[in-house]
Amino acid sequence: TFAILNGKLIERNQAKMDIEDRGYQFGDGVYEVIRVYNGKMFTLQEHLERFERSTKSIGVSLPYTMDQLKSLLLELVEKNNLRLGIIYMQITRGVAPRNHAFPEENVEPTLVAYTREMTRPKDELQTGVKTILTEDIRWLRCDIKSLNLLGNILAKQKAVEHGCFEAIQHRGQNVTEGSSSNIFMVKNGIVITHESNHLILKGITKDVILGLCSASGIPVNERAFTLKELAEADEVFLSSTVAEVMPIIEVEGKVVGNGEPGSITRKIQELFVNEIEKQCGA
Ligand code: PMP
Repeated sequence: TFAILNGKLIERNQAKMDIEDRGYQFGDGVYEVIRVYNGKMFTLQEHLERFERSTKSIGVSLPYTMDQLKSLLLELVEKNNLRLGIIYMQITRGVAPRNHAFPEENVEPTLVAYTREMTRPKDELQTGVKTILTEDIRWLRCDIKSLNLLGNILAKQKAVEHGCFEAIQHRGQNVTEGSSSNIFMVKNGIVITHESNHLILKGITKDVILGLCSASGIPVNERAFTLKELAEADEVFLSSTVAEVMPIIEVEGKVVGNGEPGSITRKIQELFVNEIEKQCGA
């Protein structure tokens, strides 16, 4: 299979990194994960725009235009014959002698992208998943899709060790987001999810869901909600590029609603699959 390294399509096993790449040493970079359905990239424009925003927010200048990046990714998907899977793409500040401050000379950022085959999580989408709660110990710029993921990794590992799919993070009493997903609750027919500020990642899937809700008259309230509200929710679900619209049936050992994915969650899942079909014909 092929990978992109600094604007060139090369054999994946030929893609080698320098040990002083700042992504490797500092996590000094940003990334995106893009879903491919039926050989087509889902919400590509949104991912490219977020990628550009992320690079700007850490002061890395993208050495490619959005159109160049788009054609590179198209070529990658085609060359790899990817039908159902993901693209992983990251950019780092580049290779320079190790020093916390930005390198002085004009160091070229390192851009990497590759693909991976990945099925949809069909069983979990049907049955729903279990989650735990964990304090959100991350920094205050969670809106940047940074390579620095230690807080997220420790949270996800805790979930895995408890036999759970995801860890729901909270800052004090307020629920923020999952370790790699956004969190939604439903109460009395209203969908509630944390506003997209510096405390969470502005999920592409989250925004697709908000758009679908608004187009179909499902009321949404974008605001922080508390652990108490979460415990009393009628329905809970999470969203991400990889997990799509995933019902949550248990939080910290406590059953959500009647223990089955709720009707509004099901409705949003249906709308979401229609959107995939609309964009990708999958
Ligand atoms: N929050 C975090 C911390 C994430 O890592 C992700 C997955 N990238 C999300 C939310 C969901 O974002 P998206 O829908 O764009 O995949």
